[in-house]
Amino acid sequence: MSATLIDGKAFAAMIRGKVADHVARLKKEQELTPGLAVILVGEDPASQVYVRSKGKQTTEVGMNSFEHKLAANTSEAELLALIQQLNANPEVHGILVQLPLPDHLDEDLVINSIDPAKDVDGFHISNVGLLGTGQKSMVPCTPLGCLMMLRDHHGSLSGMNAVVIGRSNIVGKPMAQLLLGESCTVTVAHSRTKDLADVVRRADIVVAAVGRPEMVPGDWIKPGATVIDVGINRIEAPEKGEGKTRLVGDCHYTSCAEVAGAITPVPGGVGPMTIACLLANTLTAACRANGLPEPDGLTV
Ligand code: NAD
Repeated sequence: MSATLIDGKAFAAMIRGKVADHVARLKKEQELTPGLAVILVGEDPASQVYVRSKGKQTTEVGMNSFEHKLAANTSEAELLALIQQLNANPEVHGILVQLPLPDHLDEDLVINSIDPAKDVDGFHISNVGLLGTGQKSMVPCTPLGCLMMLRDHHGSLSGMNAVVIGRSNIVGKPMAQLLLGESCTVTVAHSRTKDLADVVRRADIVVAAVGRPEMVPGDWIKPGATVIDVGINRIEAPEKGEGKTRLVGDCHYTSCAEVAGAITPVPGGVGPMTIACLLANTLTAACRANGLPEPDGLTV
């Protein structure tokens, strides 16, 4: 069997198109421009790349982008004061604090000081609780992107066996909650799980969010299962020349693709969906803040 490729790049472009159309309508009919504020503390090179990319894609869909770049030695009081100011600003509908923060800043305190209605990353404790109890919330972007692709591929996921490998707060746990919400039978596997291969072999849906290059081989995959590979790992690629590298997922792509029914590639799978879902969440937040109907198909 050769798996169907789930093309996250194309799917993300379609989501951005839907967001841009809805933003254009809001501007014309409501004189409302959704706005996303991104706060970056310090000069971590990877974070700088992410923040630049978020700002660019935000303006490309017609939203306002507010970037706040703060020095690495910014005090907690200064950061909290900026967040309070953004919480109170009606032009800002989404607030994202780029993680990780420098060590002297308390991440939980900072995230929980964001107005939950503007918490477009879905990391505020109120949103975590709302999602966990099946109530309307802001949903973390990466698992939301995974769910959108799964729903698009399968339609109903009801009754399917899903295994999520990884129990992080940003991917594994919210992914498990979302799959439960879809009436899947969900197993969450992690670093202490025994007989992981056996656990994965029972799954109709495998979501791998571990951060270990090509850890899941094809012979762990049930024939016809759907594989969503969240992992982004950079490995050496001597075949491309000395010192060269390439990106791989947590699943061994070629062997998994021989057995699976459908699979997301790395790169070009879950990755592009994450920022697309951030834009979708910002639009959803802007609609909710103004008592307007939410766009179809962009949230759960
Ligand atoms: P994390 O380090 O916070 O969590 C990793 C999880 O994997 C832990 O729960 C741990 O228990 C589990 N784990 C570790 N070793 C294991 C093993 N041998 N067997 C089973 N489970 C094991 O990571 P994270 O933040 O959830 O990210 C996971 C991966 O997803 C990383 O590669 C990260 O770069 C990627 N990621 C991608 C996106 C995206 O946009 N595509 C977004 C977030 C994270």
